[in-house]
Amino acid sequence: MEAIDSKQSAARAVEAKSYNGSCFCGAVQFTVTGEPAAMGYCHCESCRHWSAGPVNAFSLWKPEAVRVTKGADRIGTYNKTPKSYRKWCKTCGGHLFTEHPGWGVTDVYAATIPDFAYQPGVHVNYQDTRLRMKDGLPKFKDMPAEMGGSGATLAE
Ligand SMILES: [Zn+2]
Ligand SMILES: [Zn+2]
Repeated sequence: MEAIDSKQSAARAVEAKSYNGSCFCGAVQFTVTGEPAAMGYCHCESCRHWSAGPVNAFSLWKPEAVRVTKGADRIGTYNKTPKSYRKWCKTCGGHLFTEHPGWGVTDVYAATIPDFAYQPGVHVNYQDTRLRMKDGLPKFKDMPAEMGGSGATLAE
């Protein structure tokens, strides 16, 4: 029985590796489990304005893969549109993640999960770029067709 139990937990650990994330001050902590559905860079005006940076490095996870382990009461939420519920820490102002209910994914900012090996595969909303990135990855003008965009791509 003990042998079976340890085999099962080993199998689970292989299937679902977890990574630790936190806000800037550490009051809010969370884990992401498994692998994201997609990773890349978003150049849109909303991401730039919200992040106060030239580009947002995103990783998209199923909502159930993201679990807040500490400081849930410290999380603030703002939704300018019903597409994006942006979350941050009310103590330090550090950003955490954005829920996208329409797409059924949560964008966990790569910078908040340093243990996770971030591997961007795509650029989106490149028509709005303020920072050209010549990395050879596909550059979608807006969004891929399967996410409601035109699917058109642009040169770097
Ligand atoms: Zn904080
Ligand atoms: Zn964006």
